[in-house]
Amino acid sequence: MEFKTFPKAMAITAAITLGVGFSFAQDVEIATWAGFRKGAASFTFDDGAPSHVSDAGPMFKKYGYKGTFNLVVNWNPNWSGFQGLADEGHEIASHSNSHGNNMSGEEASSKTNIKGKINQKYGIITVAYPNCNVPNESAVLQNYIVGRICNGSWQGMSDNMGKDGPSNWAKVPAIMTGSEGQLKSTNDFTSQMQKVVQSNGWVAFLTHGFQGKSNGSATYSPTDISAIDGALKWAQQNDKDIWVAPMGHVAMYIKERKASQASASASGSTVTVKLTHNIKDNVSDYDYPLSLKVKYSGSKAEVTQAGAKLESKIDGGYVYFDAVPNAGDIVISGEGGGPAPESSASVESSASVPTSSATVERSSNSFGRSSNSFGRSSNSFGTSSSGTAITSSTEALPEDPSLLSVAVFKSSDNYIVVANAQGKPITVFNSLGHVVRTTRGLGCQQKVYTGAKGMYIVKVGSRTFKTAL
Ligand SMILES: [Zn+2]
Repeated sequence: MEFKTFPKAMAITAAITLGVGFSFAQDVEIATWAGFRKGAASFTFDDGAPSHVSDAGPMFKKYGYKGTFNLVVNWNPNWSGFQGLADEGHEIASHSNSHGNNMSGEEASSKTNIKGKINQKYGIITVAYPNCNVPNESAVLQNYIVGRICNGSWQGMSDNMGKDGPSNWAKVPAIMTGSEGQLKSTNDFTSQMQKVVQSNGWVAFLTHGFQGKSNGSATYSPTDISAIDGALKWAQQNDKDIWVAPMGHVAMYIKERKASQASASASGSTVTVKLTHNIKDNVSDYDYPLSLKVKYSGSKAEVTQAGAKLESKIDGGYVYFDAVPNAGDIVISGEGGGPAPESSASVESSASVPTSSATVERSSNSFGRSSNSFGRSSNSFGTSSSGTAITSSTEALPEDPSLLSVAVFKSSDNYIVVANAQGKPITVFNSLGHVVRTTRGLGCQQKVYTGAKGMYIVKVGSRTFKTAL
């Protein structure tokens, strides 16, 4: 009996007619987050620091988590070292070729270049914008499933995202860490993770190098690595609630969850689950495993997909497992198993027919606690959010002798001062991205702006600086 092919009303009629003991519709639910956890966190690292390989890699390994490492092609990252991280399941992603503002048109070419050097399961599917400013959004979305900005709050957005991610996938926010960032201590990280556990949301962190480590070109805003170590330790202790996974993996999960239809039907002691979506773009195959639970009365179950065995667990009248959408029928069978006893009334409320994504998305998080042990083990797949962006940072840039001497700082009488900018255009933006001053460099030093307390971005020629008043 294949209810899936009937309109819903007909399927219900058919189920009632057949009655208990024949074929049933089964409740099936897709988790909001992998492992039915309550929130998600992504750790991202920019500029390809040697310490990302030598220090971050081993630290993540200690806790079994994976991060996202954004490389600048022309800065000669340790390709074999980062390939090693990719082999361990970390995500390697693009941070452009040259680290110029607005990607310098390098959306596609940097992807191709990194792809030529790094082999990884899901390909190069996310990009972090150099200096935080958003390039051509359509060029980004033709090549990546995520374009990452810096703090959302620098653009009048939220720093954290909800369960459905950002409103614009070309503007996924990540909170800056380290000496110039908002997050410095373990507590700073854990309070953000606690927030998303409460809100069922997603938070991303943006780290450059580490204090006292070998950072190469990643000199901006060094972070105390022990703060991140403490954050990962907290995550491990709260693994039933928080899903730590690379940015691209979380993005795939959200997009698949929103687009997928899940249906289950039972016959005898066997339940067949269909999990499909029709997302199509040229960037990703969207084959990241989704976490499901299906009503099941047995005490034992074997779960297979396209004949291959999946890890599963039974808890509270449900069988839990992770499965890949569009990868074939999922079959649940087991001795003494079989469909949960259901009245026809419960059949009516079930999701046997191809459901709208809204129906499927009623994934509750109330099961997070009971399903956690499963979630962790099953995610060897991965144990594991905005106008033109103006916000920027004084990140390290490729050495260009003509640019080396430009400096931006705050004077003791509270002016933004630009030095050695002879002839170069100077633009000052406030924290909302509005231009508050444009001028040209006069050489030596000049006071360019004074105003309200806050963070300002100063563009001098092609370089971008961040400074506070
Ligand atoms: Zn950078």
